[in-house]
Amino acid sequence: MIKDSFKRNSVLVLLFLICLVASPPCLATEKQTVFKAGAATSNITPPLGQLIVGGWKPIPATQVHDELHARSIVLDDGKTQVAIVLCDNVGIPESVFDLAKEQAHKATGIPKSHMLLASTHTHSATTARGPSKVIRETEFTEYQKFLASRISDSIQRALYQLEPARIGWGKVDEPSELHNRRWFVNDTSLLTNPFGGIDRVRMNPPRAHKALDRPAGPTDPEISFISIQSLDQRPIALLANYSLHYVGGVRSGEISADYFGYFARIITKKLNGENQHPPFVGILSNGTSGDVNNINFTQKNGRRYKQYEKMQEVAEKVASRVQEAHQQIKFHDWVPLGAMTANLPLKLRKPTPEMLEHFEKVTSAPKNKSRTRHSREEIYAERIAGLKDAPDEIKIPLQTIRIGDLGIAAIPFETFTETGLELKDRSPFAETFTIELANGSFGYLPTPEQHRWGGYETWLGTNYVEKDATTKIVSTLLKLFHSLKDKQSSTQKN
Ligand SMILES: [Zn+2]
Repeated sequence: MIKDSFKRNSVLVLLFLICLVASPPCLATEKQTVFKAGAATSNITPPLGQLIVGGWKPIPATQVHDELHARSIVLDDGKTQVAIVLCDNVGIPESVFDLAKEQAHKATGIPKSHMLLASTHTHSATTARGPSKVIRETEFTEYQKFLASRISDSIQRALYQLEPARIGWGKVDEPSELHNRRWFVNDTSLLTNPFGGIDRVRMNPPRAHKALDRPAGPTDPEISFISIQSLDQRPIALLANYSLHYVGGVRSGEISADYFGYFARIITKKLNGENQHPPFVGILSNGTSGDVNNINFTQKNGRRYKQYEKMQEVAEKVASRVQEAHQQIKFHDWVPLGAMTANLPLKLRKPTPEMLEHFEKVTSAPKNKSRTRHSREEIYAERIAGLKDAPDEIKIPLQTIRIGDLGIAAIPFETFTETGLELKDRSPFAETFTIELANGSFGYLPTPEQHRWGGYETWLGTNYVEKDATTKIVSTLLKLFHSLKDKQSSTQKN
């Protein structure tokens, strides 16, 4: 032990001396390296007829209202490259993202651990998942293969566009579209669950109902954003992050990128990104919005919106806030980049004997006799049955990215807002945000406290992993953040 540390210390002293002797080049290296960036967009719209899976029942796609995209940014600090890709999809499994990373790594040399691939969570895209969220797939559908190759293409194309660039970031609040959708209510008839029990918290309670008590969690009004320009101030890309689930209001059967797609188009106009070459890429990523939507539960239905109107209104509002804040940000000619990943083992929840007994009764009841107490009992009976082949444990991918004094956390779940707020609070970086549904899609991630209160997001079949998962995920991400922060400059490792 002592010998080892003596050896290590001697090596450090030697390195320091070499550095002193060679001090001009050592100090000059960082200054001489050029910061570069590139961005690109690849169309990932599926063929019609594939299943849209945002609602309780999948429906075949009959029309494309607006095209779906994989939107990519590649950054390069001269030593380290990082790729961030947002895909218009409700949730892409780890296996498909891994296939995309493998292809992109072969084509570009960027380490797989330095690629953050995530879904926006539009509810009006067709499925990119297999039958289970926790059993890893080995065979891919045509659309999954297509999607992986388009994600890989978009990274290659962004890399091809690399040019000397400057980067800045900022934040601004937009609280008006955010409402926590989980409520304490004083009426047990509103609190039944498909497992034959009573919860304490209800998701999406009836609006302006007299039994509404208070929301069960916070909202995070912060829009964080990163802006990239060429050295002559031509806009290259903007990546924003907002903690709002999705907006919706589409025609049945239509494919749409929801407000994430509108944001991309509106911010392009607002930042003078139209008719630029290479084309400007606007991106909106989903923050931590597993329990937040834009329904004001304290008020009765307001005016009726036309289809696609509300999502445009929200996108316009978010883009306007970003445009205002964008005027204040400071651009840097060079910042250090870094990325770190960890695979965290988590136990999978198993159905209890009581659950199995309950669903046995549900499935054996005569079809026409309506004995159903909860409208989703059959759906959960099927989901619970599907868990019989699930493993006892899964390893979930966690990732952190560093861009100067900005930290980005990546979590492969529909993450609760309080988790995002905790990471912002405890992160060692000056600014921090979280991208959810990143590098995988393993269902909802309620905190241990929210698990105790029950409600849709905590039900087995909506959530799959152990009830303490959030605590373990936050502590792993904070460790990764600290390691990234402590590293003077990261070395690329695959
Ligand atoms: Zn959702």
